[in-house]
Amino acid sequence: MYAHRTRFFSLLLIVALGSGMAARAAPQTPTAAPPIPSATAFDALFKRLDTGDLSERDTPRQIQIVAQLQQLLPPGDAHRQRLLDTQRCGLDFTNAAKDGYTFADAHLAAALLAHDDDTAIRFYYCRGGYQESLTTPRDALTDYNHGIDLARARNDEPMLATGLQMRGGIYSLLGIYGKALADLLEAQRLYLRSELPIAADMTLLDIGIAYRRLGYPDKAREYLQQSIAHEESVGDHESLFASTLQMGFANEEAGSFDAALKIEQRALNLATATGDRGSVGSAHLAIASVLTNLHRYPDALDSLQKAETNFSAAGDTADHGMVMFQRGRALAGLGQSRNALEAFGQAETAFSAGGNQRYLEMLHQAKAATLEASGQIAAALDEYKRYLAAHDQVASQRADQQAQMLREQFDTDRSKMENERLRAEQDLKNKQVEVLQRVRRWQQVAMGLLAILLGLLALLVIRQLARLRRWKRIASIDVLTGVANRRGIEYFAENAIRHARLRQRHEPLATLVIDVDEFKRINDRFGHATGDRVLQRIAHACAETLRENDLLGRTGGEEFLVILPGSDIARATEVAERLRNRVAGLNLDDLAPGLLTTISIGVAEMSAKDAGLAELERRADEALYRAKADGRNRVVSTTAAAGQDRGEPAATATGGAPASR
Ligand code: GH3
Ligand code: MG
Ligand code: MG
Repeated sequence: MYAHRTRFFSLLLIVALGSGMAARAAPQTPTAAPPIPSATAFDALFKRLDTGDLSERDTPRQIQIVAQLQQLLPPGDAHRQRLLDTQRCGLDFTNAAKDGYTFADAHLAAALLAHDDDTAIRFYYCRGGYQESLTTPRDALTDYNHGIDLARARNDEPMLATGLQMRGGIYSLLGIYGKALADLLEAQRLYLRSELPIAADMTLLDIGIAYRRLGYPDKAREYLQQSIAHEESVGDHESLFASTLQMGFANEEAGSFDAALKIEQRALNLATATGDRGSVGSAHLAIASVLTNLHRYPDALDSLQKAETNFSAAGDTADHGMVMFQRGRALAGLGQSRNALEAFGQAETAFSAGGNQRYLEMLHQAKAATLEASGQIAAALDEYKRYLAAHDQVASQRADQQAQMLREQFDTDRSKMENERLRAEQDLKNKQVEVLQRVRRWQQVAMGLLAILLGLLALLVIRQLARLRRWKRIASIDVLTGVANRRGIEYFAENAIRHARLRQRHEPLATLVIDVDEFKRINDRFGHATGDRVLQRIAHACAETLRENDLLGRTGGEEFLVILPGSDIARATEVAERLRNRVAGLNLDDLAPGLLTTISIGVAEMSAKDAGLAELERRADEALYRAKADGRNRVVSTTAAAGQDRGEPAATATGGAPASR
């Protein structure tokens, strides 16, 4: 919906200028005299740009610099020639996505053939950018992933950050906000570490967008305001356009239509000044949406016409679905239900292909209302069912993503966000009640449809119940690993302990406390996101190894607890040893080549004296402490009697050598 491509190309240029350039030549100003080809001078011009002469950020100025660099290029220097071509890839095809794609594709093949990974990364990104316009942003992920993998392998942090920022933008668009924010955060961190604060500031826009799509328009406006201020100060007109457009969306979503209209008109002026037809189209499209909200339907249709003209001039088909959706809304507003439904049909095809659930939710709602207004009650009911399904999916995805975001400690103001989340959930519930009320009104009006309605109501009740159950389950499940969380495992343990004691013969019960060894180093070395994935693998491997009656839970960052009903200390130690072996043998090469991980385990068995889980866990913790002190990657078990008699656990240890990383 905004000028993704253009903005990232200017980013690509800034980053390219700062990375991979070995020369440390003194700053030099280009002169009017024809320059003499020289690698040093070539690199120095890049370098000078890198130190932050921000007026270079405009496309026309960039094209000029590229021309100067061409003159400085030493004859036969294939690598620098390719570097220059990566910039052409972004600059020479402003309104010709197809040609841009072809250019990127051919140059990528050549770079790969020459084993020139440095430029291959940039061509992957460039091709991905055109792919976004030609089909749908999701299709660009493959190229971005390739570029990201290459950049990671080369340890090229600025290029890695560029790729992460682009991928984060797409995840955000597709509604995968947790991943989006993880990517954007890593990008911002890498930029700062590479001393590219300007690029780091450019992530503000994406963070603002992610907030907006996550349903926090106020938070979004805060970030977008910063982003706009930054772009105005550096004169980055293309990004300024994108931020302004997003600011308009945020205002529209907050219900401030008059303000939104003014802002989107400003966005249109900015887009017109840059000359990017795709951006001009996006601005008209945004204006059309606000006009419909203001009930100015003929004006909205007029804006949509302009949007289409500009999109087709740019060869940009990515927004076709949104154009159709907005046309449907405007036509529905004019009472032209048949034409509106036809437009909605086209929008649905495009949205389904793009996989954007947020869009599908809006579409089903608008379509249902149109069907209802035109008296097609049965079809409207069907459409409302679809709306509910999409709505459910978006709502639960949002809840998951919001939980994940909290975990990422993205914002310091966590409690405030938690409150907002609760309020957002309440809003969602209210919306559902609205839909239910509407269903009931139909029931009175259309007696003939009573049977269908009863069926539907039953379905809704079942759904409500299922949702209630799901919410209960979610409350006791750890979002990251999918195993029980502390609350879940405590509930299970208290039941198991009560059950063991109910019997005449006292049944044994044991617990394992697991802690991942030197996990901080994994985070430090491979990044938090990889750390998260390691935790998922460990949880998965352990859960698979356990019997059906045993339960695994995640009790803290990299700590797990296992309850083994019916197991005594000897059997529990065997189980622990099996888990330890399984984790030590995990193949994590796909996360990072050569990555290994191990766990240490403390084992304790319940005694008659134990009041509850807390004591049992404390003894297992002491054993774990021993396992850590003895060198990690081992199992230490202890018995209650020995621990209490001698004031320290009588421990037996098993285990292997710590894995090397
Ligand atoms: P050892 O237990 O072997 O003594 O060393 P350690 O490095 O594992 O010890 P420590 O308990 O000090 O560090 C645990 C680290 O786990 C610190 C924290 O950054 C990280 N961590 C906690 N929760 C998460 C999480 O959800 N994801 C990731 N990736 N890391 C986490
Ligand atoms: Mg720990
Ligand atoms: Mg640890």
